[in-house]
Amino acid sequence: MVQKYGGTSVGSVDRIHNVAARAVAAQAAGNEVVLIVSAMAGETNRLLDLARRVTELPDRRELDVIAATGEQVSSALVAMAIQSQGGKARSFLGHQLKIRTDSAFTSARILAIDAEALRQSLKHGSIAVVAGFQGVDDAGNITTLGRGGSDTSAVAVAAAIRADVCEIYTDVDGVYTADPNVCPGARKIERISYEEMLELAALGAKVLQRRSVEVAMKYGVPIHVRSSFSDAPGTWVVGEEAGLESVVVTGVTSDKSEARVMLVAVEDRPGVVATIFGALAAENISVDMIIQNASSDATGRTDVTFTAAKSELDRVDKVVQAVAEQVGAREVRFERDIAKVSIVGLGMRSHAGVAARMFDILFREGINIQAIATSEIKVSCIVAAKYAELAVRALHDGFGLDRPTTTG
Ligand code: ASP
Ligand code: MG
Repeated sequence: MVQKYGGTSVGSVDRIHNVAARAVAAQAAGNEVVLIVSAMAGETNRLLDLARRVTELPDRRELDVIAATGEQVSSALVAMAIQSQGGKARSFLGHQLKIRTDSAFTSARILAIDAEALRQSLKHGSIAVVAGFQGVDDAGNITTLGRGGSDTSAVAVAAAIRADVCEIYTDVDGVYTADPNVCPGARKIERISYEEMLELAALGAKVLQRRSVEVAMKYGVPIHVRSSFSDAPGTWVVGEEAGLESVVVTGVTSDKSEARVMLVAVEDRPGVVATIFGALAAENISVDMIIQNASSDATGRTDVTFTAAKSELDRVDKVVQAVAEQVGAREVRFERDIAKVSIVGLGMRSHAGVAARMFDILFREGINIQAIATSEIKVSCIVAAKYAELAVRALHDGFGLDRPTTTG
């Protein structure tokens, strides 16, 4: 089995010993155990802050060299703790396991893992403690997998060694119908499909990195999200199975990490959006919602709106200003005070009118909707940031998520 421990779970010496004890117990119960560890709580932020104090726009290759050290420290500490408790353990860094990635520094993708070293380690009865979040590109550069990337390291390793389960240990005891800090009525979800989890992760539920769910879905790795402070079962993230579709809405999320960018009055002709988004893609900038109207009059002009991470806004600004003239934009507007609230559920496939119900619930709270995006199993609305929490509570209540459901 693969067990991944997040930053809070390895946040102190005591907690590191707790992790070691859990791993030793899992091995004693007859499992072959591979651990993936995050940096100690707060450490990655500290390292990245340090870099930004030296220079405002640090080189991304060097950022990864710094950021990867957090996991180097925790992997060694956990291995030592296991040894001190009488177990056998050995730490592995990304390059030592040949966790090969592309060269997209600070958000690299895993291409392949050489599982041989892990198999050898397991064969000798040793617990492998792998530094999460990091890999190595073909040129030998250290790369990192984006914030929260240890989850993806864990699932990818689980896929590579064909583990029975990938346990993700965190400071919450599972995936909730909404953020319990925002919504007191939120409940723990017992089982959720990869598709729903993918949407929730993309929409701001921070419990799993989105890419980890993509990898799990692709290779059919069952994920068990649970607390490192208890033995209670958490949430299983699994393939689609009977019963999961009976609930219309599974979860409600909000996300304030994005900003809205609007190119005003661009020419409405072939090639305009290809130019804008091609330029962003060339800089490896991900955009989320894209909205373009038909041009409504004889001016032959329309607005193009999209959302992108606030943390990328400086880079977005540069790219967009560079193409604005080429596409005839009169102006570029940025709006940071927004939140995206979303509902997610497999049951939307078979129920009509779910979006209309969402709009009605927001309307009753007097919340204006600035943009809308839908997919087969989600509806997202952009609202003013100050309404995010209110919107989540109203939707959670309005779709009856406070009440326990009977599935099956
Ligand atoms: N330490 C990294 C981060 O804080 C990776 C992780 O914890 O998953 O984003
Ligand atoms: Mg995490």
